Amino acid sequence: MEVDYIVVGQGISGSLLSRNLLTAGKSVVVIDELNVNSASRIAGGIINPVTGMRQVRSWMIEELMPFAHSVYSEIGKELNLDIVRQIAILDFPASRDAEDTLRGKHGEQNEFVHAEPADNEWERYFRFNYGAWRIGPCLLVDIGGFANEWRKRLKDTGALVEEKFVWSECKVMTDGVVYKNIAAKKIICCEGAGGADNPYFNMLPWSKDKGEALIVSIPGLPADIIFRQGISIVPWHDGLFWVGAAHDWKYTDLQPTLSFREKTSAQLDYWLKLPYTIVDHLAGLRPANLERKPFAGLHPVHKSIGILNGMGGKGVSMAPYFADQLAAHLVHHTPILPAADVGRFAKILSR
Ligand SMILES: Cc1cc2nc3c(=O)[nH]c(=O)nc-3n(C[C@H](O)[C@H](O)[C@H](O)COP(=O)(O)OP(=O)(O)OC[C@H]3O[C@@H](n4cnc5c(N)ncnc54)[C@H](O)[C@@H]3O)c2cc1C
Repeated sequence: MEVDYIVVGQGISGSLLSRNLLTAGKSVVVIDELNVNSASRIAGGIINPVTGMRQVRSWMIEELMPFAHSVYSEIGKELNLDIVRQIAILDFPASRDAEDTLRGKHGEQNEFVHAEPADNEWERYFRFNYGAWRIGPCLLVDIGGFANEWRKRLKDTGALVEEKFVWSECKVMTDGVVYKNIAAKKIICCEGAGGADNPYFNMLPWSKDKGEALIVSIPGLPADIIFRQGISIVPWHDGLFWVGAAHDWKYTDLQPTLSFREKTSAQLDYWLKLPYTIVDHLAGLRPANLERKPFAGLHPVHKSIGILNGMGGKGVSMAPYFADQLAAHLVHHTPILPAADVGRFAKILSR
């Protein structure tokens, strides 16, 4: 079989990139070993314009958020899926300092941070001492739902190979690659955290980060808003809530941990007034890196190999924009934003 592109990995990065390349009229085969705990299948799905303890404006959010909204809306129409909605985060500061930070951001006319009226309805659901602040607009995206539906589409059209890709079976030439019986002009690597084991890109500054979430039933809690106090309670599928997520760079395995479950339950016991039941516990790896910027583009030495990865904890907002940039680069040779272009690591990747 001969194709224009092999895409390795079918998380949000590989799904969006393969869709863009197919839309541009290119032939594509996607190779993916299904991992139900991959980042894209367990992510909360939030695009949040201000993040971190200091409520800092997210990188390029003015461009990334509207772009992502338009891409996910288009995909929703195309696949007949309800995958994106505008939502707000209700942040309950856990301390006077955290409250001061939010008040400061509000005072700076930050268009994303708004004080919640003092006589709000939230005391029916939560215990809190330092007020409530509304952060928005944010987006909530069902990237797992999209990835699953897109996988079906690829399978139905014969464009999916469900197996683990191994480099020992791949012949890399200057003008293309041959993997088993598939010849392609280029291979684009979208393996998420697996990218750190890719022999062509393992020198990039990976900093893989384990995340966990509980899936919880909370009868009576409104499902049209995200609640946050250190952890976030996010509307999930089937009337359930996703509660997460931890960051762990020193993990020893990929299993859900008792410590996360106990810590998160203790926080819910203290904060939430409603009874809840834990129905599942998820754990997976974020493909994070020290620069917190994506890796997009062709290998500086091996021009038949490319990458779309490094989305870290922000793949929901970054993947649509950079999948679009990479597809345009491959098809029309347009430049990739220098801050995201993997060419910025040319020196290290040329060793
Ligand atoms: C707990 C948690 C919560 C998160 N919440 C959010 C959030 O709210 N908002 C946000 O923006 N981001 C969030 N993220 C981050 C987000 O999930 C990631 O940035 C994004 O999903 C990365 O997508 P990806 O396609 O690059 O990688 P992945 O989703 O990891 O996909 C990689 C795919 O490649 C496949 N693969 C790898 N190696 C091979 C191989 N050799 N052969 C075949 N297949 C292979 C894997 O099986 C997988 O299907 C969260 C992550 C976690 C873990």
